[in-house]
Parts: sequence; C-alpha cells; structure tokens
Amino acid sequence: MAYPASVTLYEVGPRDGLQNETARLPVEAKVRLIQALSACGLSRIEIGSFVRPDWIPQLADTDQVAQRLQKRAGLRYSALVPNRTGLDRAVASGLREVAVFMSSSEAHNQKNTNKSIAESLEHFSAIVPAAKAQGLFVRAYLSTVWGCPYEGEVDPRRALEITQKLRAIGCDEISLGDTIGVGNPLQTRRIVALFLEGGIEASRIALHLHDTNGTALANCLAGMELGITTFDTSVGGMGGCPYAPGAAGNLATEDLASMLEGMGIETGVDLEKLFAAGELAEDLSGRKLPGRRLQAALGRRKPGEARKAAST
Ligand code: MG
Repeated sequence: MAYPASVTLYEVGPRDGLQNETARLPVEAKVRLIQALSACGLSRIEIGSFVRPDWIPQLADTDQVAQRLQKRAGLRYSALVPNRTGLDRAVASGLREVAVFMSSSEAHNQKNTNKSIAESLEHFSAIVPAAKAQGLFVRAYLSTVWGCPYEGEVDPRRALEITQKLRAIGCDEISLGDTIGVGNPLQTRRIVALFLEGGIEASRIALHLHDTNGTALANCLAGMELGITTFDTSVGGMGGCPYAPGAAGNLATEDLASMLEGMGIETGVDLEKLFAAGELAEDLSGRKLPGRRLQAALGRRKPGEARKAAST
C-alpha cells in the first residue's frame, strides 16, 4: 500500500476545540495557546471565528487574538467567516485565509446556519469571490458527510454535488466532516473514491474526522491510501462532541502526528513541543483532554502516579 511521503495537519483546536469547551478564555490565554501550537512546526492553524459574538461567546474576540499574535513566516492562520462582515473583519485582522461552513444534510445545515443548503450556496457565491478577489485562500467545511445527527445516513453523492458547486464558486479546499464520528474505513474509502471520480482532486480535499467511536485514525489511513494529505486535528482532542456529551470529538493532533511519525510520514511537527502545547490546552480548558497520545505522554512524566499493579 502506498502512503504519502508527507501530510499536513490542519490544527483546529483554537477554533473548533475552544468553541465546544465550556471554559471561556481571555484573549491572552488564546494567544498563548496559538503561540505554543505555532512553535510545534504545524503549518496551518485555525485561530477563531468571525461569527456574531452572541453565537459563539467563546470566540467573540478573534479580532484581538489575530492582531496580538506574533505570526510566524510560512505558517498559515485561518478563521471561520459566516458572511461578508466576518470576511471584512478577517481581512482587517491581517488574515490571508478564511473558511466558510455548511452541511451536506438539510436538517443540520438549517440548525447550524439557519439556511437551506441552496441558500448557503447562494450566500457563499457572493462571499467567496469577494475573498478570492482579495487574494485569500478559501476553505469550505462540509459537515455531516458520513452521517447526520438528525437525518441519519447521508447520500455522499449529495455531498459531492455540493462540493462541485463550492469549487465552482472558488473554494480552494473542501474539508469533509465526519461530524458525529460514525465513519468506518470502508465508508471513508467509498466517499473519497466517489469524490476523486467526481473530479475533485485529492489535493483539494481535507478530512475532518471525529474520534467519537475510536475510528478516526483508521479513517485517516483509508484517506491516505487514496492520496489525501490534509487532515484536521485538535490539540489534545479538545472540543468534545456536541451530539454526544462526554464523548471524544475532534481527532487529537498528537494521536495522528505520533502515528505518522512512526510510519515515517513527514508532518514537520515536533512531538515533544506538541505535548507541551497539549499540556497547556489541558490547563486552559480545565479538564482532562481525551487525546490518547497526550495522556500517555503526560502520564509518563508523573511516575508517582504510576499504578503498582504489573501491566499486562
Ligand atoms: Mg470538529
């Protein structure tokens, strides 16, 4: 089986992680977290969201976060923009990359964005060209591709049609989301193969896999086998799953980075620095984060807490 020589980890912790944590962090803490992640060798970080502050209070101050960051050369910072106002705020904050978002199931799109799928596409057909005209890189999130919390199974051909439209209006990259973490590797292979056959190049696809059922790494592997090289991950697995409280949501950055390092696949990430960023994320979120590799690393640093029983 052929795997890519290198993979890009798209860090979503400061946005997708924090928006699903109950802790509300001050600007200074968010900046510290992003700086810690920037030091790990990651090449892409989503730092927040320019949605209306009352929608996601955890991310109400993304403008200030973006302005206070000491941006690293070569590192791409991005943020969610729901509308033209959000786009203007992102540009004013110095960002050169933005992300729009919608779902491939009507019910989820309606609940998440208050729009039908047709309305979202129409809405983006004004925002995305405006972003492209300013030279920005535009990512589009497409949620519920593997399944919907309200509708159950979703026909991936519908997701492909939406993706083709998103590409046609100028979106550079489509991040396909397993929003409720129900995907399995064969399903992932079928979905990615369908997209490739439908004319969407592997380089235009990112996979946003959730680890709710423990299958995210296996799904990444299935994606890599078909040439996908960009995966969304969250430091420590921060964020949880809004549809299954207490369960894991976002795939943990350390879990994928560690597996890839073991496989000899380049990510540019320094694992020790990533563990330090994970420890900070855990301190800031005020709870034990679900990332397995992070917990293994932190556990080894605390020998006093080691279990006395012989391990098997
Ligand atoms: Mg997510």
